Amino acid sequence: TFTPYEGGKSKSHSRTDNTLEFRKVYPHTDVMNEVLHGKFGLQNYRPNQEEIINASLEQHDCFVLMPTGGGKSLCYQLPAVLTPGVTVVISPLRALISDQVDKLNALDIPSAHMCADVKKSEIDVIMAKLAQMEPGIKLLYLTPEKIVASRNTCDMLQGLHKRGKLARFVIDEVHCLSQWGHDFRPDYKQLSCLRRNYPKVPIMCLTATATKLVQEDVLNILNIRNVKTFIRSFNRPNIKYQVLSKTAKIVTSDIANLIKSKFHRKSGIVYCLCRNDCDTLAKDLSNFGVRAKAYHAGMSGSSREKVQREWMNDIFHVIVATIAFGMGIDKPDVRYVIHNSVPKSVEAFYQESGRAGRDGETSYSYLFYSPGDVIRLKKLIQMDRNTTKKTLEGHFENLQQMEQYCDNKIDCRRYLQLMHLGEKFDRNICLKNKATACDNCENIKNNQIMDVTKESRQLAQLVKEMATRENLTMLHIVDVYKGSKIKKIIDRRHDKHSLYGAGSHMSKNDIHRVLKDLLFKKALKDHCVLTGEFPIVYVKPGPNMQSLYSTNSKVTISVEKRTNSKALNVTNSSTSLTPDDLSSTSDYQSYTPDDQPSTSNASSATS
Ligand code: ADP
Ligand code: MG
Ligand code: ZN
Repeated sequence: TFTPYEGGKSKSHSRTDNTLEFRKVYPHTDVMNEVLHGKFGLQNYRPNQEEIINASLEQHDCFVLMPTGGGKSLCYQLPAVLTPGVTVVISPLRALISDQVDKLNALDIPSAHMCADVKKSEIDVIMAKLAQMEPGIKLLYLTPEKIVASRNTCDMLQGLHKRGKLARFVIDEVHCLSQWGHDFRPDYKQLSCLRRNYPKVPIMCLTATATKLVQEDVLNILNIRNVKTFIRSFNRPNIKYQVLSKTAKIVTSDIANLIKSKFHRKSGIVYCLCRNDCDTLAKDLSNFGVRAKAYHAGMSGSSREKVQREWMNDIFHVIVATIAFGMGIDKPDVRYVIHNSVPKSVEAFYQESGRAGRDGETSYSYLFYSPGDVIRLKKLIQMDRNTTKKTLEGHFENLQQMEQYCDNKIDCRRYLQLMHLGEKFDRNICLKNKATACDNCENIKNNQIMDVTKESRQLAQLVKEMATRENLTMLHIVDVYKGSKIKKIIDRRHDKHSLYGAGSHMSKNDIHRVLKDLLFKKALKDHCVLTGEFPIVYVKPGPNMQSLYSTNSKVTISVEKRTNSKALNVTNSSTSLTPDDLSSTSDYQSYTPDDQPSTSNASSATS
């Protein structure tokens, strides 16, 4: 279940959160709880729901910011049951509307919608009910264009208003109002008339995506002055996040074993890079004794629908899909999401892994990561006809941040994800929750910080000098710096370079990570060249190479703790995480993300 409200709300936003103000006992509290249990059949409120319902029943305008699956609907549906008159809900999607109306009617809460597909005769029935002295409908769902364009609808609303039966306006997906949002809908703009035409009717705004900018824009357009704001953390406390390194051969049996041992008869989603991978993996999993079916855009609409329906109804449990699967999927008991390949951005990862655990029960996110998949994904992005040169850069940047996320073995996974969504997250929340602590928090004892300031400058220097003469791959640079004796290096006389072998004390993997950090900081840049089948990524000096020498900040990477750390420069400054600090505090209470060196590749991943 969801842990009680844990104060994880965003600190980086300056907007105030009014949650605490409404954590009280009211005259309506008893009857409100009765409706929760009796009408909705629910045991408890989820975080913020109770406070939002209180504020709503107290006639305030409300702005509700909650992640998808957080339970926004109850926040207006429960007040609608308790308030005399009709609650008007404006929602952009017809599919969502009819789904909601069906659910409400099944709970014996009289509800209706007047979307374009409703027959004239049915509309007449609804209109008649609404015209009664005591309207026979509690919740009326409308699309925004109805409110503006339909004369009949306007008259009906005016009629309700005059009789004092217009209880509240609810605007779902309210970010659609703002041009700054990602899903602007011009029709929504017309909703600015609501406050003008119905000055005393409270408005509730709901969304899962709103930056401060969008929120202000929305409130301005709607002409709302004294709004009560409720911001729930986007942290998903019941999901355990893990990144696993993927070794090409054994991964399918790994996934099969994982599913068999841990998720017998439990629903799950396995995401793959492309259609082919889906088909292959679904088949392979079945060969390993796990019944799985593929789902992707290459299948006919009807077979996709069939697969989705069977999965939704628990006829089979494992769906192997491309990212085409997911929009509007609302299965509450998905127990795990496996990424068989790297997602295209951290945000995409958050959304995709977030399809697990909507019911609040402990759920799992596994990300199988291999650098080879990143190269494959880059190629797929490049081959996509819709990718212009400009968007290509953006895609690559997103992907690079995703790589950083995967490579990062020290920062809290939640911290990293939420930073991308503009929320600052206190790592202690993750550390404290033993069952769902992320892999990095679980392993925090095994890490130590390695200062690689000198190494990162040397590597930049090496690239600068060598790139003038030839195309360099990452691997090539790693080999030179490590002092590898392979033929390619010796033949080209790279062993004569003054920095040859300067990194012999580091593992190749760690050298790779320092290079990636340099790429991320744009001290280096990479470019992709398609040679026949395979794209090759070359590295050269980037625009920020010079600043590497002028800043006096440290560059650090995390490495696994070694007992014999002769070769490592373990930093002892107060800003770093040292092994001793860690073993002395059992709960790591003193360790927050702010304690990290600001220049570590870990924290730069989120800047
Ligand atoms: P959102 O609109 O925020 O994405 P919904 O309102 O659709 O979320 O709710 C998501 C799921 O959570 C639904 O299946 C809903 O029935 C369930 N839910 C909401 N509130 C509660 C609660 N207090 N207890 C249990 N389940 C809840
Ligand atoms: Mg919703
Ligand atoms: Zn964590």
